[in-house]
Amino acid sequence: MNHPPFCPNPYCPNHFQAAGPWFIKTGSYHSKTAPRIQKFKCKTCGLSFSTRTFSIDYWTHRHICYHTILSHLITSSGIRDLSRILHASCSTVTDRIRRLAHQCLAASASLTCDMEIAEDLVADGFESFVCSQYLPNNIHILAGKESQFWFLSDYAQLTRKGRMTDYQKRKNKLIKEHLKLYKGSVYHSFQRMVEKTLELQKHSKKSLCRCIPMNISSTNR
Ligand SMILES: [Zn+2]
Repeated sequence: MNHPPFCPNPYCPNHFQAAGPWFIKTGSYHSKTAPRIQKFKCKTCGLSFSTRTFSIDYWTHRHICYHTILSHLITSSGIRDLSRILHASCSTVTDRIRRLAHQCLAASASLTCDMEIAEDLVADGFESFVCSQYLPNNIHILAGKESQFWFLSDYAQLTRKGRMTDYQKRKNKLIKEHLKLYKGSVYHSFQRMVEKTLELQKHSKKSLCRCIPMNISSTNR
């Protein structure tokens, strides 16, 4: 990369609209993971950065094949399974999955921002958890009825419910005290998704797009 696409500083004017000679080259260096890394400096804010700043492997010491990770993830491989296949630690595998997930979200947002809806939409939601079952969540999904294309999704944090032992109840209470939660988080999550759908529909040829909710019960929380 000889020409960086934008300044990595989100507060710099060159972050969103980089035009003209807005940077200077400030040498290069070598590392184990890349043969030659070009360094740059923004003329406006003075931030130094390199070609690695725009890489999915930024701040890593080892390249791991993301195609291998993705192909095993879609066949439901676990973290330990991937760790054995890739000869990497579980924390390294988790880190690469996180990086891959960020890229997938960014790619999806970029592709769907001016997408035209030409079919009815189906909304659904499922419950999962992050880290432990004390931190459950609800993820809404909006997909095309015919194409099954995933248009967007939205996240809502929940609290643990159901039968618990006295110890689990105490722990749950402690977590709830420290966790910032909003009442009706699932309802608001669905509302956000509807708002985004209406935005998508604005520049869509299909003016009377029907949205079919599949998870009505989620609005009760
Ligand atoms: Zn800058």
